[in-house]
Amino acid sequence: MCIVFTCGEHTFRKEVEGYEGITCQCHNCGNWAGHVIKSNPWFTFCFVPVVPLSVHGYQDVSCNICHFAQPLEHRPDVQGMRRDGEGNNITMQGQPPPQQGPPQGPPQGWGQGPPQGYGQAPPQGQAPMRYG
Ligand SMILES: [Zn+2]
Repeated sequence: MCIVFTCGEHTFRKEVEGYEGITCQCHNCGNWAGHVIKSNPWFTFCFVPVVPLSVHGYQDVSCNICHFAQPLEHRPDVQGMRRDGEGNNITMQGQPPPQQGPPQGPPQGWGQGPPQGYGQAPPQGQAPMRYG
């Protein structure tokens, strides 16, 4: 009786949320063919994934040309390209939206005129200069 157990490792790869469709430069070959891929290695038993080897997986910048993989945490430039669920660049948040004030019409109360500054008193309370 001979039973052969085949153990191995299988890595699931998928796109990372927020990085879909983002192309970045590969630091190995210099081509703009890098994509952010999340890798989840699993321990397989008889080709069936049974135990995840990593809880959260790894996020790498994978190059389609040279297949060079670089950890995402080493690429802050790529992290800055991440988008939120609405397709907005997260790095753009924090800046206030352009303010649109109320329409500037003619001032109310024509005829009254602005208050005139008759007899504007000089600033009070200036301490006299003291000599000695
Ligand atoms: Zn490359």
